[in-house]
Amino acid sequence: MIASQFTLGILGAGQLGRMTAIAAAQLGIKTHIFAPDAAGSPAAAVADFATTAAYEDKDALAAFAQKVDAVTSEFENVPADTMQILADFIPASPGAKALRVAQNRLAEKTTANDLGIATPAFWAVRSADELQAALSALNGEGILKTTRMGYDGKGQKRVSSDMNAASIFEEMNSDELILESLVDFDYEVSFLIGRTSDGQICHFPASRNTHINGILHHSVAPAQLSDALMKAGREAISKMAEALSLQGVLAMEMFVSKSGELIFNEIAPRPHNSFHWSIEGCATSQFTQLVRIMAGLPFGSTAMRGEWQMQNLLGQHMKDVPQHLADAGKSVHLYGKAEAKRDRKMGHVSWPSEG
Ligand code: AMP
Repeated sequence: MIASQFTLGILGAGQLGRMTAIAAAQLGIKTHIFAPDAAGSPAAAVADFATTAAYEDKDALAAFAQKVDAVTSEFENVPADTMQILADFIPASPGAKALRVAQNRLAEKTTANDLGIATPAFWAVRSADELQAALSALNGEGILKTTRMGYDGKGQKRVSSDMNAASIFEEMNSDELILESLVDFDYEVSFLIGRTSDGQICHFPASRNTHINGILHHSVAPAQLSDALMKAGREAISKMAEALSLQGVLAMEMFVSKSGELIFNEIAPRPHNSFHWSIEGCATSQFTQLVRIMAGLPFGSTAMRGEWQMQNLLGQHMKDVPQHLADAGKSVHLYGKAEAKRDRKMGHVSWPSEG
């Protein structure tokens, strides 16, 4: 099938769907957004078609599947059953397995451990008593996180072994938590891989990331990693992509510990905020690569165009937009969100490093 006759379905209506739809349009590929909040969304504003329906609406999913040639998801919290229903009709990615793992921090870290990828020490916590036992075993500083629906530092609390387990458990207000040991990291990096359904892979240059209050603030690429760390990161993400039978793109966030070891944090089976620089900084962006993979087109080169940086524009940064727009060296991306709430991702800005 030639690309211009292809329609890519996208579950989710946020900025990742928007940038995927823009990349698809550049290749003459049509997009169809499916989300409960599709109407008036950042993604639907630039897509060819949109369906506003619940992810559980089987009739709407079946009708959507008739209209698209393949489907991908821009966020990992879409119900795995939704993907399963779609997969009966058309190629659907990420598959149910990748979603189940990526949706739950315990499943993520257990899968990483099973693949021989180092993680922080962690404990499953489903009651105040289990939290008490886990805090004793931790014997120091840790981070307590909800296992599901946590993002951008939400649903997380720094804890230490001497804290009161009963009151913290109540405060977290969730029936399943993970307690992780606090990693004394030097810096954070992320890796990104593209993978086809028949197992061909391509790596992107790694990003070095800075978070503020658990939210990505700044990325620079390529991360200056030793050959050994680069090899270890690429092996880890390749193993994970294979274990999840991934079709599409997969990001893996990792810590580089003070002793120079890579430690797993989390995965996302979709384009990732820390690779937004790839739109200008790479021969093929993460969004274009995803579209190519889903449309059965060959991989594009992931060669970098020098060193690139990316900074997120959160609600509180919108006042700086005129300044960024006036800077000839900067590429400004705004996601078309109506309300600039504090910590809400409104856009990002990318620029090449000097020299
Ligand atoms: P997450 O939502 O799990 O990616 O966490 C957001 C950010 O919190 C990470 O990017 C780190 O900066 C920090 N963080 C999360 N888990 C840990 C950990 N176990 N040790 C140290 N810092 C962490």
